[in-house]
Amino acid sequence: MEAAFICSEALWSRGFGEGHPLTPVRLKRTYDLLMAYRAFDAPASHLVKPRLATREELLLFHTAEYVDAVERLSAPRGGSVDRTLARRYGFRPDETPAFAGMFETEGLKAGAALVGAEMVAEGRAQVAFSIAGGMHHARPALASGFCVFNDVAVAIHWLLRRGFRVAYVDVDVHHGDGVQAAFYDTDRVLTISLHQAGIMFYPGTGFPEELGEGAGYGYSINVPFLPYTGEDLYLWAFRQVVPPLVRQFAPDVLVTQLGVDTHYRDLLGSLLLTTQGYVVLVEELESLAEGIGRWLAFGGGGYAIDVVPRAWTLAYGVMSGQTFPDELPPMYAERYGSGRLHDVDEPEPVEARAARQTRAYAKKGLAVLKARTKGVWKWEEEAHG
Ligand SMILES: [Zn+2]
Repeated sequence: MEAAFICSEALWSRGFGEGHPLTPVRLKRTYDLLMAYRAFDAPASHLVKPRLATREELLLFHTAEYVDAVERLSAPRGGSVDRTLARRYGFRPDETPAFAGMFETEGLKAGAALVGAEMVAEGRAQVAFSIAGGMHHARPALASGFCVFNDVAVAIHWLLRRGFRVAYVDVDVHHGDGVQAAFYDTDRVLTISLHQAGIMFYPGTGFPEELGEGAGYGYSINVPFLPYTGEDLYLWAFRQVVPPLVRQFAPDVLVTQLGVDTHYRDLLGSLLLTTQGYVVLVEELESLAEGIGRWLAFGGGGYAIDVVPRAWTLAYGVMSGQTFPDELPPMYAERYGSGRLHDVDEPEPVEARAARQTRAYAKKGLAVLKARTKGVWKWEEEAHG
């Protein structure tokens, strides 16, 4: 596959700051690791600069009032933020703070998504990866969960306008609520989100009963997991749902949000995936994408600073057909510390009782999903085990 990595330093020159979980350092370190591996020297691997999304493009998903508000909050008059305006549109200092230059930085993320969408739509690449994107929580007129512009929804709208049907797979530990809501009533976009259940966990949605409405019934699919769900159970559920539904839907474009906050060392999530399991996920998606021919991939969450660069480097390796040496390259190690590309340790084993509960919960969710969508999808008989 011809692969494009959509990225430039402007994406991490400003942001929420170092004390915030979504620190832009995550992006810089991922870029530095890929550069250290010379990941863009391969003939079918291209480093492509993003551009700013135009106002018109942002309006594919966002309201004009919201775009104006983001612009105003981005360049506060007299240096102080209009707190009333900020609050009205979901900007909160403790979660999604407004910051100087926000309009440009976040507009660049949306632009990166569009550059990727254009490349795969025109066949200039079979896969495009924007690690800075995947802002799946933003709503048409609301910032939420560290997300300002929903680059994913903007890009999917753009693809729909080109006449494409889209399958969206979201493996971030948080429910992809903003993208689900954006396409809840259409059968031209299939959204599938696997995530930690919204029980005392942001954003509180993403249950199997959320299936879409009207023509969109059965085209919003949710697979929630309890905290401490292990990798084997997660991958089992993924295989039950994602490949069969994406194949039946037969989309023109596969769009994925590849948040790595499912990792067992993540600061926000409580699932127990390792980089090895994460790579299996990406490989499964890659094999689906091969059959489709167009794959637009996004980063997303991931808050363990020593995990994110390795996971997304491994993901880009799968996309661009490269295997990187497991020892971190000296150029990177000198700066950030030596180590291995894959995890060398693994999560502590979960008590038998908790393991049974996570399994029962996942199975019950899948049973609900299958029962309620058997008029829309052909489900394979579940193998016993
Ligand atoms: Zn997340």
